Order: sequence, then structure tokens, then C-alpha cells
Amino acid sequence: MVVQLSSGPPQTCRMSEGSQPKVEANIVVLGAEKVGKSALTVRFLTRRFIGEYGDIESIYTHNVRVGGRDVCFSIWDSICPQASKFQAWVSEKQLRWADGFILVYSICDRSSFHQARQQLQHLRQVKRRGSTEKVPIILVGNKRDLQHQRVVSSEEGRLLALSTDTGFFEISAAETYHGALVVFHELLDMVRDSRSTGRKGVGLRGIVRSMSAVFGRRRTE
Ligand code: GDP
Ligand code: MG
Repeated sequence: MVVQLSSGPPQTCRMSEGSQPKVEANIVVLGAEKVGKSALTVRFLTRRFIGEYGDIESIYTHNVRVGGRDVCFSIWDSICPQASKFQAWVSEKQLRWADGFILVYSICDRSSFHQARQQLQHLRQVKRRGSTEKVPIILVGNKRDLQHQRVVSSEEGRLLALSTDTGFFEISAAETYHGALVVFHELLDMVRDSRSTGRKGVGLRGIVRSMSAVFGRRRTE
């Protein structure tokens, strides 16, 4: 069962107070168990880290203003089915629904990184809604506060992102709100770029993003 919840001002996704239409972005948060998918989502929605989140699959609606535009995020905080542990998992429904994915692993859990790699490769293989565009994805190495338990280096994460044409950040959902904010806003930019490049061809932002991934400037702190 997926629970649908709303945060922010009580509006639907369709309405906008300004003259410009509201930007809508459906985001699925994927990753292994206990890597911090819910912590990242709740951090972005409420600015808080509450510690324990339970294993509930939820879709949150979040209305905010970003860069002067009204934006409606719908965020699907997924759970990883037991049967698919260590396998690439994304449902047909999620694939059809999503405009972009956030793929989380823990820098303290190598198997979660392995699972993220499989997920990325899987997502890059499947075709979406007849689109030729690559689905926007951000790879997130979470739990950066636990440096003494680190088993996945920043370089491994960055290289995986680069080889799969994916955004990359290392964050700590526990320590800061800023990291969560940057991840969701960057993915929003990628979703908007992919909608417009579908019409105009490859944009400068995409090239800058790849260069930044190479030179390691996609850190949040
Ligand atoms: P999910 O199963 O991927 O949704 O993971 P949760 O969000 O439920 O988090 C799993 C556990 O990791 C919880 O005990 C969280 O408090 C903890 N956690 C999540 N993010 C962080 C983080 O950035 N740093 C630390 N130290 N713990 C975290
Ligand atoms: Mg969760």
C-alpha cells in the first residue's frame, strides 16, 4: 500500500497563483533498505531529521516556490521489496510515473552501493514512455557524517555517476537540510532541462554537470 500525503500550502498540483504555469515533478526515491531514503525525503519536506521513520511507502505532495516559480513536487518514498534485495528493482508503475529518480546508498554500506550500481544500470537500460531522452537521475551517497565507518569512497560514487550520466552528491540527511535541498533542486533542474532538450537538443547545463562530476564539485558542503 502506498500512502498519499500532502505538505506545504493546501493546494493541488494543478493550480498556480502567478501567471506562469506551475512546474510539476514526480520524483521516486530508490535504494537499499536503511540507507536514508525516508530521512532524505522528510528532511526536504520538513527541514527536520527525526531519526526513525518506519517502513511505510508514501507519496508526498509538496508545493514550494523555486527561483520565482511555483513548483509541485510529488515524492514517492519507496521501500525495497524483500524479494528484490541486492537486485535492481523499480516497478513498471514507478517507471511510468517518474520524471526523475533519486538513488540513495549509504557510504557505510558497500552492498547498498552495489545495489545502487545495479539500479542505475537497470534504469539506463529501460525505455520510458516512448521517450528517447535519458531519465534524470541523481545518485546520493548518504550518511556522510559517519566518516569513521566509510567503506565507499567519494571517488567510487563520482565515477559511477559519471559512467552512467547521472548527477552525484554526498550528503548527510542527519546533519544538514542544505544537502537534501540541493539534491531535490538539482533534480528539478534536470527534469526541466530534459523536458526542454527533448525539444531543443543537448543544453550547456548538461555539459557543465558532466564536467563538474569529473572534477568533484558536486559536493554540498
Ligand atoms: P530507508 O529505509 O532507506 O528509508 O532509511 P531511513 O530513512 O529509515 O533511515 C535508516 C536509518 O539510518 C535510521 O535509523 C536513520 O536515523 C539513519 N540515518 C538516515 N540518514 C542518516 C544520516 O545521514 N546519518 C546517520 N548517521 N544516520 C542516518
Ligand atoms: Mg524508508
